[in-house]
Amino acid sequence: MTRFVIRLDDICPTMDHGKFARARAAFDRAGVRPLMGVVPDNRDPDLQIDAADPGFWQMMRDLRGEGWGISQHGYRHLIHTSDRGLLGITPRSEFAGRGLDDQRADLAAGQAILAREGLGTDVFMAPFHSYDRATLTALKSLGFTTLTDGYGIVPWRQDGLTFVPQLFERPVHFGAGVYTLCLHLNNMTDEAIDALGHFMATNAARFISFDQVRARTWPAALVRPLGLALRLALTAKRRRP
Ligand SMILES: [Zn+2]
Repeated sequence: MTRFVIRLDDICPTMDHGKFARARAAFDRAGVRPLMGVVPDNRDPDLQIDAADPGFWQMMRDLRGEGWGISQHGYRHLIHTSDRGLLGITPRSEFAGRGLDDQRADLAAGQAILAREGLGTDVFMAPFHSYDRATLTALKSLGFTTLTDGYGIVPWRQDGLTFVPQLFERPVHFGAGVYTLCLHLNNMTDEAIDALGHFMATNAARFISFDQVRARTWPAALVRPLGLALRLALTAKRRRP
């Protein structure tokens, strides 16, 4: 049976609170617990939709207590380079193409904020899906173990890290494997959120948590050929201006 995991990008105090609340209700109805990508110190104007919610960090702690996953989504969600990174998707990056020390300093600053808020995590979600080898080195040195990104249909271990692949934004699949649906709630219509809620409620058994997925990794050598093929097939499609 194919399985789905949901990741929510761009979670921060100034996100679209109405959309988040609508999605939260849908997740609760379906019993689905997504992985959230929390921006520790958002400075990206594109993510400033609503006024900052003073209850944001407590809500994050409450959701973690209910089994929702927490990952660190960059540091400030700023575009520092036009490097597409190892995945080759978007020509923007907060990390790829910068020096190791600069990357590590930003990652550590974000990590400290999440730890201070009681949301410490060893999972990293790269803004714009863009990271390079230096990012991976910095992440490992800071104790991160897992990334939500990569081309594949099963999680794998590589270079001392676990990768949980992410391919699509909608529940499409190839008949086997595990698929991470990448959702940007700020940009979704109410109708799209409701449609996803309906799909989740009627396919609840197919949704599992990020922690369940990452516990079952495959050797990199076994998954690499399919990953390369998926990369070739999907890169052009996923690239956005
Ligand atoms: Zn983002």
